[in-house]
Amino acid sequence: MEPLPIVRTVADLRSRVARWRQAGESVALVPTMGALHAGHLELVRHARRLASPGASPGTCRVVASVFVNPTQFAPHEDFDRYPRDEAGDAAKLASAGCDLMYLPDAVEMYPPGFATSIVMAGPAGGMCGVARPLMFNGVALVVTKLFGQVQPDVAVFGEKDYQQLQVVRRFTRDLDLPVRVEGMPTVREADGLALSSRNAYLTPAERHRAPELYRALQTAVAALERGSPVATVLADVRARLAAAGFERVDYVELRDASTLEPLERTGPPARLLVAAWMGRTRLIDNVAVPGFDGRDSV
Ligand code: AMP
Repeated sequence: MEPLPIVRTVADLRSRVARWRQAGESVALVPTMGALHAGHLELVRHARRLASPGASPGTCRVVASVFVNPTQFAPHEDFDRYPRDEAGDAAKLASAGCDLMYLPDAVEMYPPGFATSIVMAGPAGGMCGVARPLMFNGVALVVTKLFGQVQPDVAVFGEKDYQQLQVVRRFTRDLDLPVRVEGMPTVREADGLALSSRNAYLTPAERHRAPELYRALQTAVAALERGSPVATVLADVRARLAAAGFERVDYVELRDASTLEPLERTGPPARLLVAAWMGRTRLIDNVAVPGFDGRDSV
């Protein structure tokens, strides 16, 4: 297999993309922080299909960016120990049909004198926005920059980070960015644990207990569908996670599936979202809760 072309500067990226554009090809972007797994690669495969629906695969190009974005980590968070594997990532992207890996460094992304920030409200409020207050401002800034640098027709994000997906949809609309944002279902291990680069932090014993996160969400959705009160169901999830060895639960919340407004009762299509700590590892997950008021389910 041909090695995957890698560019590290905006100038090199732009000249590649310009050649594709001159040939009439469309462009899809998959932003990542690297340490790639099968979930990321599913986004790449989906991007190939989305960039040019109905057209032959040769008429669309997929760029995957790999950038561990310092502006979305707080000083005490895992920026320094976040797993990095450039060669492994390039090989995986090539196998998934990616055309170009964009690997800027922090100075290329935020040159000296950089003075712009984005402050997100709306779907960024609560949940991960409380536990990690800087994160969504940092995500909004880097994704806006990536959209400006790559100028893709479409960008693909995972529902695994559901709040992030709704934040990206929100600022793309708010800032009139001409990019179609597509969400992809969460890719899971056979035992239900959502694939995540951070799963590498889990000890074998923690890894064994971690799928309880997803099982608790599935049980909760079944209870909501039977009409159990939301507060009881959320409390049951917390109790179950504590019993499974999660030392701390950052949140368990039922939210409107598109606005992410908190919901106290089922009705509109909703999302049940959770973040909890297993040892030193913070795991997040979420599932759809179909609507019950005659509308289509999510
Ligand atoms: P990350 O590198 O973890 O920041 O993730 C990059 C992109 O991959 C984001 O859009 C994530 O939502 C998505 N992603 C991460 N894990 C999964 C998964 N298990 N299934 C689907 N998408 C995922």
